[in-house]
Amino acid sequence: MGAHSATTVAEGIAFMNIIDGKRVDAVSGERIDVVCPSDGKPFATIPASGETDVDRAVAAARRAFDQGPWSRMPAVERGRLLTRLFHLVEQNGDELAAMESRDTGKPVRQGKADVTATMRYYEFYGGAGDKIHGDTIPFLDGYTALTLREPHGVVAGIIPWNYPLQIMARVAGAALAMGNTLVIKPAEDASMTAIRIAELALEAGFPEGVFNVVTGYGHTAGAALSGHPGVDYVTFTGSTLTGTRIQQAAAVNNRGVTMELGGKSPQIVFADANLEAALPVLVNAIIQNGGQTCSAGSRILIEKPVYEQVAAALAARFAALVAGPHEADLDLGPMINARQRDRVAGFIAAAEEAGVPVLARGTVSPDAPAGGYYTAPALFGTVDPHAAVAQEEVFGPVLSLFAFDGEEEAIRLANSTEYGLVAGVWTADGGRQHRVAKRVRAGQVFVNGYGAGGGIELPFGGFKKSGHGREKGFEALYDMSATKTIVFNHG
Ligand code: NAD
Repeated sequence: MGAHSATTVAEGIAFMNIIDGKRVDAVSGERIDVVCPSDGKPFATIPASGETDVDRAVAAARRAFDQGPWSRMPAVERGRLLTRLFHLVEQNGDELAAMESRDTGKPVRQGKADVTATMRYYEFYGGAGDKIHGDTIPFLDGYTALTLREPHGVVAGIIPWNYPLQIMARVAGAALAMGNTLVIKPAEDASMTAIRIAELALEAGFPEGVFNVVTGYGHTAGAALSGHPGVDYVTFTGSTLTGTRIQQAAAVNNRGVTMELGGKSPQIVFADANLEAALPVLVNAIIQNGGQTCSAGSRILIEKPVYEQVAAALAARFAALVAGPHEADLDLGPMINARQRDRVAGFIAAAEEAGVPVLARGTVSPDAPAGGYYTAPALFGTVDPHAAVAQEEVFGPVLSLFAFDGEEEAIRLANSTEYGLVAGVWTADGGRQHRVAKRVRAGQVFVNGYGAGGGIELPFGGFKKSGHGREKGFEALYDMSATKTIVFNHG
């Protein structure tokens, strides 16, 4: 990774908001402790911003959009700034990966993988903004009609704690490539890398006010931002409930939104599948980031002739899984906070009480600090499709297995939740690959693989309660802009 190797994060840093190109504290001076989920100990602080701080950030973004050099900058120049940011992320990759791991508790290798994906977002969007163009449209005699893709203006990005670097990069990359200005509100549980990236954006040469970050709680800073009349467009990734609240707040100003919400993503394993190839992918899709992934593959539907075989193989793998501190780089880290750990434990206890068979539990490493928020992974077999653990997003290392008989039942089960984010289909039958991929209601379908939301170039987003709008790839550039039609009368 980068030349400036820093694998530890300095203690006691008081991080600041980045507003109008300056490091500033919340006007109230109030702070939130940054807690490491691996040991439960605070090691830094971030501003607990409120309405006034949000007002200032939105005003700065507004000025930068309406008056600054940014609005006159050609797309290619904006792209060059994003490319410079890509290089700075690469150079500072070790530091960013260490920050992300300590802030979220994710294993060190996952922090590094997140930095690699983050680089790729800024690289991709650095080269994409000047490739988007409008149309000329055949119209009436004596007229020329054309369309332009114009930025919305001030974009608010509300970011969750599970993949802060990556999710901010996909929002910021697309929004900035199209010429918007940004106010980012990262999650109170993991804000450090958002601030660091905004600092790097200043170093890259983004004009003041283009890239603002305001930290704070959701019900204060987040609510003020999503309902702010100075914001032109809101993009959110996180829970479905919070997404609904944010849409209600944005609706007061009739603003457009992109919603990247929860999931209960199925992987369908047919009897003719290459099981050897499938098994590690099935496990990784729920264990990556401790299952705290919107696209986690949390349900596995298995065709009856191979159910026992697949369940036994998964049970053996689950029993061997170990959770531990991020530095130990084990199969998974802790949950983000005590609330999330208790929530996951609640799902497991409820499923056990309801008599759902526990096929295997992983373990927590004996070296894991007592104050950390650990959960041993759980594998449940032959789950009732109506059970809470079959329907609700657990957001933890909890996998449920279901048995099915034939293609129709597989599709029915796959579509039997309120979510529709990602799906996996495992079969050697080419016709079935196409049929099932088309009939599963999910924004991304992987055949004989599972990307867990991966692929910077690939449009990503939900059906049903998983949200609307698309991020990643070129599609995000359309969401981050609006079409203007211009008609010339030659008469
Ligand atoms: P959340 O969705 O409430 O938080 C995500 C972001 O929204 C944070 O920045 C938060 O500060 C902000 N926010 C919260 N309330 C807000 C409001 N009223 N207005 C504006 N912004 C607001 O997630 P959480 O509370 O940290 O976690 C709760 C559950 O959400 C988890 O258990 C998990 O199931 C789910 N979750 C899902 C995803 C996903 O990508 N699918 C991500 C994070 C959490």
